[in-house]
Order: sequence, then structure tokens, then C-alpha cells
Amino acid sequence: MEKLSNSKVTIATIQKYNFAFQKRFGQNFLIDDFVIAKIIRAAEIKKSDTVLEIGPGIGTLTQYLAEAAGQVYAVEIDRNLIPILDETLADYDNVTVINDDILKTDIAALAAKSETGRLKCVANLPYYITTPIIMELLEKRLPIDSITVMIQKEVAERIAAKPGTKDYGALTLAVNYYASTSLAANVPPNCFIPRPNVGSAVINLKVLDKPSVEVRDEALMFKLIRASFNQRRKTLTNGIANSSELDFTKEQAEQALTRMGLSPTVRGETLSLEQFAELSDTISNLNS
Ligand code: SAM
Repeated sequence: MEKLSNSKVTIATIQKYNFAFQKRFGQNFLIDDFVIAKIIRAAEIKKSDTVLEIGPGIGTLTQYLAEAAGQVYAVEIDRNLIPILDETLADYDNVTVINDDILKTDIAALAAKSETGRLKCVANLPYYITTPIIMELLEKRLPIDSITVMIQKEVAERIAAKPGTKDYGALTLAVNYYASTSLAANVPPNCFIPRPNVGSAVINLKVLDKPSVEVRDEALMFKLIRASFNQRRKTLTNGIANSSELDFTKEQAEQALTRMGLSPTVRGETLSLEQFAELSDTISNLNS
């Protein structure tokens, strides 16, 4: 069939099936082949790759992924889309559509079934769960080489933010702990049906073999990061002392910062990931 990235084909397909968009599933379908080409290029998809696509919708991006990759697993939550995907992907025998919630899918099992044992993840993500999906893919240390996804522009800016800026926060640090990040494209609302009411961006995350910084107690470092950004307006020492997740006094926090050569009145938003790792090691070592 003609490609769905042609908006006329998308509209005809939606009408043929009398498909009703579900807002609760974040359904904004791509209708721009130029944007899709950018996604495929940023993801560096090769015939030897197995791709995990989250939310294929009516299969627009999936058609291109099927042509570029060896194998595609496409996980779609909305069962009303399954008969449509049966038709739009009928020409491709290397696509498996799975009707499931991606947050409940056994992704490790999919990777194990694939020829390489590894996945590249590509998606125009449902925006209502952008962060949980990205963190799930990274934190579980799944056999994933890269994640190339369309997300809200504002979230892309938070992921790519530099210390001291307003966008810099716990998400910046968490993503950059597991992956190196780059922005592949900015995408305006008119590239989708229906148009989302926010701007979008495609980001590429290359998952690192080992985290970008060394830290003895990863969980403690992330608690310190959360304490720091939960109370952005406060100094880091107050944030640490007030955190319900941590058991350090203000004095201990000051002592750790002083040992690191930092001011005891520093704000957490100015610390780099390396400094949070050092703070974690220093504060846990205070009494030894
Ligand atoms: N890939 C299509 C495209 O680019 O035109 C559709 C993208 S649309 C932004 C997001 C898709 O994710 C929708 O098809 C939606 O039904 C699906 N979706 C939403 N929540 C999901 C979940 N938890 N698990 C799997 N798919 C989900």
C-alpha cells in the first residue's frame, strides 16, 4: 500500500476503520516522511538490527522501520489499532505486533528472542508517559543499544540541560548517568494528526556500557539528587537535611561539601553528575 506518511493515506485509513483517537493514549500520528527519515537516520538502523517500537499507532513509522531493520517488535496498547496494523503492515513479514502496555511488556524476553539478543528502541512516544518509559528502558539495564524517540520539546530540553540552567534537574542527571544524549530534530505540531498542543523533538540516547560516573552507592546518589531538586529554592544542605529519604544532618552535609571544596551554601542545581557522585561517596564516608 501507499505509505501512511502521506497525510491523505492516513486520513483515508482512519476513516475506513472509523477509528476514534484516544486522548488518554497520547495518540498523535506522524504524517511527515521528512521527519520519519530523520528518525530512521538518527537511530542508525541497519538490516542486522532488531527494533522495538513503542506505540506503532496505524503503523506509519513501523513501515519505514520494517524496511530498514531486520526485525521489528511493535508494542501497541490500543486493541482498536490491531486490525488496522494487520492491513497497513501486511506487506512486511518481519514485523510482530504485540497488543500490550509497554510498561508491562517483558522487553528482556523480546531481546532474547531476537537474532542479535539486543534491541534498538525507536518510537514516537505517547507523551503522557514519556519519562516512565525512558527511565524503565534505562534503569532496568535491558540489552538496548540506543533509544531514539520523539518526545515533548520541553522534556528534550530537560534531558539535554546544563548545570545551573532552569531545565537542569533530576531527569537530566538520571538520563545522562545511563546514556549519552543528542538532539536529532525539532518537530512542529503540524507534522501530526491530531496536532499536539506542544512542540516536539527527536532525541537519541546511546546507552553506555557502564554508567558515565563511578559511584559506590548508586541509590544514595539518586536520593541526594532528588533531595536537591525537590527543594530547588533551598540550599543543598537544607534539601539533604529535610529529605524524608535521607538520614543526614545539615552539619554532615556541610562537612561533606567543605571536604569537596564547595561552599556549604551551594545550590544542588549547580552540581554536575560527577559532583553528585563525589558527594555521595564523601557523605557516606564521613564517619569512617
Ligand atoms: N507511532 C505512531 C506514529 O508515529 O504515527 C503513533 C504514535 S502516538 C504519539 C503514540 C502511540 O502509543 C499510540 O498509538 C498509542 O495508542 C500508543 N500507546 C500509548 N500508551 C501506550 C502504552 N502504555 N504501551 C504501548 N503503546 C502505547
